[in-house]
Amino acid sequence: MRKVIIAGNWKMNKTLAEASDFMDAVIPKAPGGNTEAIVCAPFVHLPALVEKAKGSNVKVAAQNMHFEESGAYTGEVSPTMLTDIGVTHVVIGHSERREYYAETDESVNQKTKAAFAHGLTPIVCVGETLEQREANETMDVVGGQVKKALAGLSDEQVTQTIIAYEPIWAIGTGKTASSEDANEVCAKTRKVIAEITSGDIADQVVIQYGGSVKPANIDELLSQSDIDGALVGGASLEPESFVQLVEAGT
Ligand code: 13P
Repeated sequence: MRKVIIAGNWKMNKTLAEASDFMDAVIPKAPGGNTEAIVCAPFVHLPALVEKAKGSNVKVAAQNMHFEESGAYTGEVSPTMLTDIGVTHVVIGHSERREYYAETDESVNQKTKAAFAHGLTPIVCVGETLEQREANETMDVVGGQVKKALAGLSDEQVTQTIIAYEPIWAIGTGKTASSEDANEVCAKTRKVIAEITSGDIADQVVIQYGGSVKPANIDELLSQSDIDGALVGGASLEPESFVQLVEAGT
């Protein structure tokens, strides 16, 4: 049975005090078991949040990283730095990074490999624009992004990769893909993974949906055959709604 993974991507939000208060409210309520709760926080908050999350059922992720271990990359953070402070997961290739910071399929692949080389679990984001969806290119785009992200990984690493399918037109817009449409893309994505590995491997990969997920639609999304969790932006900012989302996964 695949795990259910609910990850809250705070993006560029919260002061340190707000982040700490959030953890204090959420940690006692995180259920554990087959449901994993992950908070994807800004870099500056990571050490404090990792400290708070110790021994709890909440994991802490970075929202990005460089693929090199160190060097002359002003403003960047390396995988070594993340593991050094106890971060376990990292979001890679979020559409906002692809759009605003020139993230490419190639850098996503380099970062995904670097994550595994340093013991971090990558949450690899893929998704199509509205134009691409309307031109019936969704699976060409998403399948291509997935293949390129996973290129060169071992089967074992593929099974550990978390894929987040986030249609760009559904992010922050209040427009959720219908649960059937979201599931169709997630199921087809699993087939793409099966083609490059095997059905057994693909069956183990956790595929999240992201894009305007909230307590009102999480149950229906999670009831689908190939949606194994959610990557949540806006609705992950308040502890109450994040806890509701995590509880929906139990
Ligand atoms: P929203 O949940 O705010 O639509 O954001 C989704 C997202 O981009 C999560 O990474």
